[in-house]
Amino acid sequence: MSNLDRKPSRFADGLRRLLHSFRFRLTLMFVAILALVLAGFSAFIYNRQVQINHAEEVSRLVSQSAQLVAYYESQMAFTENQREGRSVSVPQSKLPLLPDDTLLALVGLDGKAVLQQGPLQPDILSALVKKWEDSPDTLQPLSFTATGQGRAGGTAYLFMVNPLQVEGRDVGYLLLANPTDPGSQLPRLAIALALSSLLIVLLAFGGGYWLANRTMQPVQAIVHTAQQISESDLSRRLNLHRTDELGELADTFDQMLDRLQAAFERQQQFTADASHELRSPLAIIELESNRLLERKRTPEEYEKVLRLIQSENEWMSRLVNELLLLARMDAGQIAQRSERVDLSEVIVDVTERLTPLAQARGVALKTGELGECYAQGERVYLTQLLTNLVENALKYTHREDGRVLVVSASKVQDGQPWSLMVITDNGPGIPEEHLPYIFNRFYRLDPARTRTEEGAAALVSSSGLGLAIAQSIAQVYGGKIEVQSQEGKGSTFTVWLPAAR
Ligand code: ADP
Repeated sequence: MSNLDRKPSRFADGLRRLLHSFRFRLTLMFVAILALVLAGFSAFIYNRQVQINHAEEVSRLVSQSAQLVAYYESQMAFTENQREGRSVSVPQSKLPLLPDDTLLALVGLDGKAVLQQGPLQPDILSALVKKWEDSPDTLQPLSFTATGQGRAGGTAYLFMVNPLQVEGRDVGYLLLANPTDPGSQLPRLAIALALSSLLIVLLAFGGGYWLANRTMQPVQAIVHTAQQISESDLSRRLNLHRTDELGELADTFDQMLDRLQAAFERQQQFTADASHELRSPLAIIELESNRLLERKRTPEEYEKVLRLIQSENEWMSRLVNELLLLARMDAGQIAQRSERVDLSEVIVDVTERLTPLAQARGVALKTGELGECYAQGERVYLTQLLTNLVENALKYTHREDGRVLVVSASKVQDGQPWSLMVITDNGPGIPEEHLPYIFNRFYRLDPARTRTEEGAAALVSSSGLGLAIAQSIAQVYGGKIEVQSQEGKGSTFTVWLPAAR
């Protein structure tokens, strides 16, 4: 394509974008409203001026007519032989001074003009007299349009016909007509109004477009920033610092980015941690099998390494299952089925199942008071929740007189009934600085501690996901887990679930 071909298309593209832009349409709407207002206003002014002119013309015509009638009646007199014929002599020489565009005629009773000033044709005269005679209100001025001499178009006149009387007898009529718009004021007013309205509309369009442009600048900044934000860099913010609607929009946008960034970072961290957790068992398996295959080994050596591989495999299976469970909870897949579950039953089940583990660790696992309390949820997940907490209590309590107590209770808080499961141990406790983080995924107090602790502890793994899973399950069913802990004295985990009626 040549440059010439491209130029008009770019111009057309720009024009199309301008015509479709919000600023342009906003300005256009604003100008259209203004134009309507101006048109209405101009029409009002014009009509008002027409009315004022008409009223002035009428009063001028009435007073001029009265003066002229009085003047001619005083000037006219019957001569002896005229008296019978009822015709009068009219003083031709003493015409009063009238403006050039005023039409004056004295008409005899026969309808013929005796005296006339201005361009009145005889037929127009008689038509006017007829029109006046037909009119019920004799003194009402009437309008007509006549073609004036030397004028191209017709001129609108306001005329009045008054009877002339001499010695109490009708002798004729005085006809007086004035142009309705002397000096063509009205067309000039119309042009002035139209031109000034057009000028105002043009100015308003320019000013409006400039203003709309300025107002839309923050929106353009939002668009620009949004275009620059990529999936891997969510750190950019608008920071508009305005108190108007656009500022609110930008703040909402920034807050949304904060949340997105936090979620994205959590996701990244989670993936990194999960890969890290899986990497070490895979490395162990690879190392051990390579070492084993270097040369012939005794059956005992093979068995030892196979057992190690088996244990690593179990660990990975458990980790993958936990990750899957978390992923399903994140996706909101576990809350769909829910039943009324007796928490005391769950406690009995879990403690019974974990008693061998407790015995292996030399910890006394007991249930306390088990009141009747119900919660809404899926039994298998609530069992998983409690198992995680009791396993932790057993796992971290290394004492001769280690004790773990599980009770259920009902409580009303803020007017809402809750069902509680409380797990108390007299283990090492959790230092205060760690408390805010223990529910985070993969968070372990002592990273050096391995997942296969010596002795009985090997029965329970330590992935750093146990509390995160428990908390997620509680939240899925509208509850929460609270922890109170004192270093050296033990911990109490309380599971709050909305009570089911
Ligand atoms: P883990 O698989 O390591 O047990 P959790 O998410 O269950 O992971 O627990 C996170 C951390 O909280 C643990 O590493 C442990 O240090 C601490 N913790 C949890 N429960 C207890 C408890 N009952 N007593 C002392 N520390 C605990």
